Amino acid sequence: MLMRLNAEVIEKPMVVPDYPRSRIPTQPLLSLASFFQGKSRSDLPSVLDAGNAIFVTSGRVAIALALQQMKIGKGDKVLVPAYHCASMVEPVIWLGATPVFYKINSDTTVDLDDLKSKLSGSTKVLMATNYFGFPQNLADIRRFCDANGLLFLEDCAHSFMGEYRGKPLGSYGDYAIASAMKFFPIYEGGCLVSPSPAIDKVPLESAGLGFELKSAFNALEKGFAYGRMSFLKAVLSVPMWLKNFIWAGVKSGGAAKQTSLGPGASDGGFNFEPSWLHKRASLLSRILIKTVSKSRMAVRRREIYQTLHRSLADLPGCSPLFPTLADGAVPYVYPLVCENLPTIFPLLKNAGVPVIRFAEFLWEGVDASVCPVSVKLSKKCMQFPCHQDLRPEELDWMIKEIRALILGQGSHTK
Ligand SMILES: *Cc1c(COP(=O)(O)O)cnc(C)c1O
Repeated sequence: MLMRLNAEVIEKPMVVPDYPRSRIPTQPLLSLASFFQGKSRSDLPSVLDAGNAIFVTSGRVAIALALQQMKIGKGDKVLVPAYHCASMVEPVIWLGATPVFYKINSDTTVDLDDLKSKLSGSTKVLMATNYFGFPQNLADIRRFCDANGLLFLEDCAHSFMGEYRGKPLGSYGDYAIASAMKFFPIYEGGCLVSPSPAIDKVPLESAGLGFELKSAFNALEKGFAYGRMSFLKAVLSVPMWLKNFIWAGVKSGGAAKQTSLGPGASDGGFNFEPSWLHKRASLLSRILIKTVSKSRMAVRRREIYQTLHRSLADLPGCSPLFPTLADGAVPYVYPLVCENLPTIFPLLKNAGVPVIRFAEFLWEGVDASVCPVSVKLSKKCMQFPCHQDLRPEELDWMIKEIRALILGQGSHTK
C-alpha cells in the first residue's frame, strides 16, 4: 500500500515523454548517514559562509528577492547567461525587467568580451552561474561589474559548497542564491545570501501547517521509496497511512483546490510562483540545511564525480564537459557531452537511469546566433547525479547501465 501511495507523491510531472521513475535516486535522500562525517573530511566552505542568509522555498524565489533588493524593475536590463533554465529568467520578467542573454565560452565561463558589447545605460545586474558546481571566472566578473557599475548576482544553484581563490562561492556576488534542494535531502528550500544586512529585513512568513507536513512527509517518503530508513518506515507505517487518509480528505473537501500545499519548484516545474515569494522554507528544511553533514557532502560528491569521470569519459562519441575536477569545487552532477544524445537520452531514461538535462529548453529567441556554445550544450550535454546519498551498488549499477547503452548504441549505428 505504501508503495502505491508513495508513487503518487513522489512522481514528478514529466514534461513530454512519460519516462519511468529512475531506479536509483536522482536527488539526495534522508537517512541516518546524512548526519555523519565519515573518516575523510573536507573543510570547504558553503554559500552560508558568504554572508547573511535567509531561507525561502526555492532558488528562483531567492532570485526574485535578490532583484527586488537591487531595486530592479520596469525598463531595467539584467544580463542572463544564454545557457540557463527558465526558472532563472522568469523572476526577471515578473519584475518587468528585460533579460539580455550573453555568451558563455566552451568551458562555461562568462564571455566578458560579449558582455562588454551588451552593456547599455539601463543594464543594472549581471547574473552568472557556477555551472554544475564549477566556479566561474569570478574575480574577473567581479572586476568587470565594478568597472561598469553593475551589481553581481552569483547563481550558486549548482554550487552550494566550494571556493574560488580562497573565498567561498557566493561571496563574489553582491547577492548570491542557492537551491538547497539540489544538495540536501529536503523537499523544498532555497537561500538568498548577501553581505548586506538588509536581507534580514525581508519579510518572510510561514507557508502553513499543511506545507510543513508535506515537506516532512515528502522527505521521509522519498527515502522510504528507495529503501532508506526501513526501520523508521516500519515504525511510521501507521502515521503514513493516517497521513494519506487525511490528505485524501483535505483534497476532496476542496481546501487544497485553489492553493497547492507545495511550490511547483519542488515538483519539477520551471515556473515562478509569486505566491511563494515571501514564504519561509519549512522548519525541517532549515534544520536539515544546518545539521546535514556538509563535509560528507563535499567528500562524497567529489569522490563519486571522479568515479563517474574514470568510468564514462572515454565512451565513444562522449566527452566530459570539464577535463578535470576543479580543486575547490563540490560538484552538483557529472556533465557528459554526447554526440548521440537524442538517441541515448530516451534509452537511459527508459532503463531507469537517473539522468538530467539542465537547460534542455532555452528561452525563446536564444539560438546559435546568440550563443553557439549554449545551444550545443542544451542539445548535447546530459548530467548524472553524484550526490552524497548514492550507494556504492547504485553507482555501480548506473555506470554499467550507461556504458552498456552507449556502447550498444555505438555498435549499431557505426
Ligand atoms: C535549479 C536552478 C535555479 C533555480 O532553483 P530552484 O530551487 O529550482 O528554483 C537557478 N539557477 C540554476 C542554474 C538552476 O539549475
